[in-house]
Amino acid sequence: MGFVVAIDGPAGTGKGTVTKIIAEKTGLINIDTGAMYRCVTLECLNQGVSAYEEEKIEKILENIDIKLTHDENMQKVYLNGIDVSEEIRKTKIDENVAKFSALKCVRDKLTPMQVKMGEMQDVIMEGRDIGTIVFPNADVKIFLDCSLEERASRRYKQNIKKGINESYDDVLKSMIERHKLETERKIAPFIKATDAILIDTSKMSIEDVVTKILEIIHERKKQL
Ligand code: C5P
Repeated sequence: MGFVVAIDGPAGTGKGTVTKIIAEKTGLINIDTGAMYRCVTLECLNQGVSAYEEEKIEKILENIDIKLTHDENMQKVYLNGIDVSEEIRKTKIDENVAKFSALKCVRDKLTPMQVKMGEMQDVIMEGRDIGTIVFPNADVKIFLDCSLEERASRRYKQNIKKGINESYDDVLKSMIERHKLETERKIAPFIKATDAILIDTSKMSIEDVVTKILEIIHERKKQL
């Protein structure tokens, strides 16, 4: 197994940004597992398949090809050979991804792919179940948290920058719904690993969070 840093946390904690910066600074390969669940969701929606049609989803999963590439530190996401890096961030995917990611067939497909990625190289992997299910023996486990209002406010501002017109209340509502589905699902529910280090980012800048995690990684490396 490579050196594995697991970063789990809900949407809007700054997880993606922090992980990307740490990857740049350390040379660890950044694996965004949420992007993989977003690809499955996009492909199913493109094929007109809902999260209730498990047999059809299983068929789609047999042939799905998901690739995460890193060109000059820019992560790109390819679904069946097509660059979907932007498309998978759309509201339609936000609204549906938690339903697809709760399915056993979807997790049975993606989890082993993620394990393989961490076995082949040194990674910083972000998601919801990295420290609990994908890499329960990760070298470093971080759980990022943040107040719901702050998370919704950050996502709302990010959306404005991207030109997405969604009210703060709608962002908040969809975040609450997504969180409920993720924490209450039967398979790989989103919970903090007991041995993960909790960082509450509500009142921290991105730089502060990065510095703290880098310190934790350096400490851990000294012990190995
Ligand atoms: O991190 P991001 O918000 O892009 O993740 C999209 C969705 O993928 C999450 O809302 C969650 O439903 C799902 N997910 C998951 N397990 C992971 C990563 C993401 O269930 N390890």
